[in-house]
Order: sequence, then C-alpha cells, then structure tokens
Amino acid sequence: MTRRQRSVDVIVVGAGPAGLAAARGLADHGVGVVEVLEREAVAGGVPRHCHHRGFGRWGVTGPQYAARTVEAALGSGARVRTGVTATGWAGPLTLDTTGPHGLERIAARAVVLATGARERPRSARLVPGTRPAGVLTTGELQQAVHLHAQRVGTRAVVVGAEPVGYAALSALRRAGVTVAALTTEEPRHQLGRAWAAAARLGHGVPVLTGATVAELLGRGRVSGVRLRHRDGRLTTVDCDTVVFTGDFVPDHELARRGGVALDPGTRGPAVDGAFRTGADGVFAVGNVLHAVEPALWAAREGALAADAVRGFLDGSGPARGGPAIEVAAPLRWVAPNRAVPQVPVDAFVLRTSQALTRPVLVVTQDGRRLHRQYVPRRALPNRTLHLAGRWTRSVDATGGPVRITVGGPRGGNLGAATE
Ligand SMILES: Cc1cc2nc3c(=O)[nH]c(=O)nc-3n(C[C@H](O)[C@H](O)[C@H](O)COP(=O)(O)OP(=O)(O)OC[C@H]3O[C@@H](n4cnc5c(N)ncnc54)[C@H](O)[C@@H]3O)c2cc1C
Repeated sequence: MTRRQRSVDVIVVGAGPAGLAAARGLADHGVGVVEVLEREAVAGGVPRHCHHRGFGRWGVTGPQYAARTVEAALGSGARVRTGVTATGWAGPLTLDTTGPHGLERIAARAVVLATGARERPRSARLVPGTRPAGVLTTGELQQAVHLHAQRVGTRAVVVGAEPVGYAALSALRRAGVTVAALTTEEPRHQLGRAWAAAARLGHGVPVLTGATVAELLGRGRVSGVRLRHRDGRLTTVDCDTVVFTGDFVPDHELARRGGVALDPGTRGPAVDGAFRTGADGVFAVGNVLHAVEPALWAAREGALAADAVRGFLDGSGPARGGPAIEVAAPLRWVAPNRAVPQVPVDAFVLRTSQALTRPVLVVTQDGRRLHRQYVPRRALPNRTLHLAGRWTRSVDATGGPVRITVGGPRGGNLGAATE
C-alpha cells in the first residue's frame, strides 16, 4: 500500500498536556504548520479519563482540563489530528503514520515526542499465581469506568498506595465497587495525610503497608489476593477485581525506533535543559521523560520546549553537547539528564529508591561543588523530588559528568555523600 507523502513544519506526537502546550507555544509564535498526532479518537491525553479534581492551577477535573488544553492548542492555530498513530521513522525527521485516511509519510523540520507514560501490566511485575480475569491497571480501570461505563466487579483490592492508587479507589467507588484494601510493599504509604485519612476514615478502606502480593488466586475470574506481611504472615483478601497502580514507564517505543538515545535511569529519551534529545531536531517533553509528574509540569515543559524548537528552527539555539548528569544511590534518576551551561534550567525532577528524611542534595563536577540544597521534608519513593537548576550556569561544558548525591545532614560533612 502506498503512503501519501507531505511536509509540515513541526510534528508533535501525542496530544496530552505536554504535546498540546508545545504545539500551542509554536503555533502562537507563527511557526508555520504545527501538526499534533494523537492515536486516540479524542485529544487530551491521560486527564481525559481521570474524573477527579486536581488538574491545572485551579484543580479542575481531568476532562475539564483536557478540554481547555485542546481548545487552547486549536485556538493558536495548531492542527490536532486524532486517530493517527506515528508508527515509525522513514528518516531523521520523517514519520510514518497510520490513521483514518490511511498510511502517510510526514516530513518535518522538527519533531517533538510527547508520547507520555504507560503503566506496567501485571505480567511485567512478575506477580505469581494464576492468570484470571479481573486484573487491571489504573488506566484500564479508568477507561472502563469513565469512558465506556463498563461493569468492573463488586469487591476490589488496589495494589499501590500512592496518589494514583487513590485515583483507582475513587474510580472503583464511582463504579459501585467495594474496595477491600489498598496495599503497598513499601514500609509507609505514599498517599499523603489527607488522602490516607480519606481512604481510612472517609471510606473505611484499610491501607496495608509492608504487604507484598504473594499470589493471585482464582481460575476464570480472580477470587482473592494472598498477601505476605512484614512478619512473614500470609493472609488472603477475597475480591473479584485487582487493580495494579502507580508503576509507570515512559512510552518510549517511538523514540527507540528512531534510534533516540534513552537515559538508563528514567528509561525515557535522554534530554538536555532545552529538551533536545541526542537526535538533531528531535525534542521530547512530558511524561515520556519522567514517569509520572503532574499535568501542569508536563505542560510547562511543552511550553519551554516550544521556545527551544523555535531556536533550533531559526538557528539561534545554543550549541549541543554538554556533560551527562548522573545520580548516585539511593537516588534513582534525574531529568533532564544532560547539562548545557548556556541553557538555564529552573528545576530538575528526581526520584529516590528509599525514603529520605530532609535530605541534602549535593551537585558536583570533577570534585568541584556546584550546588547544595536542603529539602525541608521527607522524600518518598515514587514521589516528586525537585532540585533547583541555577547551578547549570557553573557547569564546565568540556568537563566530566555532573553528579548528584545525597549529602550528610544539614550543616554536616558534605564530602560524606552516601553512595
Ligand atoms: C490515574 C492518574 C491520575 C492522575 N491525576 C493527576 C492529577 O490529579 N493532577 C495532575 O496534575 N496530574 C495527574 N496525573 C498526571 C497527568 O495525567 C500527567 O502528568 C499528564 O497526562 C502527562 O501529560 P503528557 O502529555 O506527558 O502525557 P499523556 O497525557 O500520557 O499524553 C500522551 C499522549 O500521546 C499519545 N501517543 C502516545 N504514543 C503515540 C503515537 N505513537 N502516536 C500518536 N499518539 C501517541 C497517547 O495516546 C496520549 O494521548 C494523573 C495520572 C494518572 C495516570
């Protein structure tokens, strides 16, 4: 089958908050034809099927937020094409797509990848037990409840006690499903005080910490979850639905197919402070860089990347290159993950693999200290940790990698960073 060939100025892949903000920023500044490709039938990304409040500056519901961002992108003059999937690359800045009007090959002067993140399904989490029906990710649950009004089950266990686990609890309650428990293998839940209280006291749902899923039970349909507790005890919670939440990975398939280098920590495309990937003219923004941050953060990156894309198109952008940014355990990853001295970064996103009480983050390059930051709260696994970025100006562009470590206590020996 032949492909229709055409050209635009910028292709944005993904019409979630990040891609729509990038498209709006580009079209608002008159950057020719800006085309957003979205594989789903309706644009807006993940917020579209999150019916709870908490999106954007005013905490509106996900669908309200999605509608506003789509409207803003269209209002700026960007084209948003739904039902169109970018399936691969025919050249460094040329994408093959498939959609309602058949196969296309679209060439551009720049490409922005805003493909978001996906949840790891049960199979990827190596959960022992049978393979019954009734086992879902939060995304599957929300689509079933909010988009298709499907029947889910009657009694559920949510595996994951973080904000997305709470979103699953809300979706289940909305569908009339009793939630038997929220569980996490972490020693503490990561819901925050208000949501933990709402789950326990408001809805009477126990939050079980230090509880690992030892086995899923049931043939045909799931009939229960066997949990192994901290003290080795095994208990069974009866249920006909299990929702696995919160274990996200960047949706990096298209980036990989294009040979775009991935960061080993985030598993999304490696980018510098201007959201430039290792491939010239290819940018990446939003949760494909870091799974997952709030919608406002993703949109903010999209807007910043629009400026960088314009700099690339008119040749005014900074030189490429610059040292990699690495983290030492217990930190897991950082994004962006390459430092360019001429590119100011207002904040980096990090994750830790273990809870840290009021940590001090220390940034060094070739033994030289660039920055030290006290974090006045506990840093928890799977929760956002931000590092101010003004130190990027002091980076030696020709020097060794920049390292971020967790230092000693406030005012203590900074050399004693934990490895
Ligand atoms: C359950 C849940 C609850 C959340 N609650 C909140 C909240 O209360 N407040 C908040 O601020 N944030 C919340 N978030 C996070 C928020 O949804 C994300 O920050 C935001 O959606 C990220 O935007 P994005 O554009 O990077 O990715 P996405 O929203 O994931 O959009 C990516 C888009 O790219 C499309 N796509 C991917 N690959 C292709 C391809 N090859 N071709 C064409 N299209 C493609 C996808 O279909 C998708 O529409 C929540 C997330 C989840 C999962």
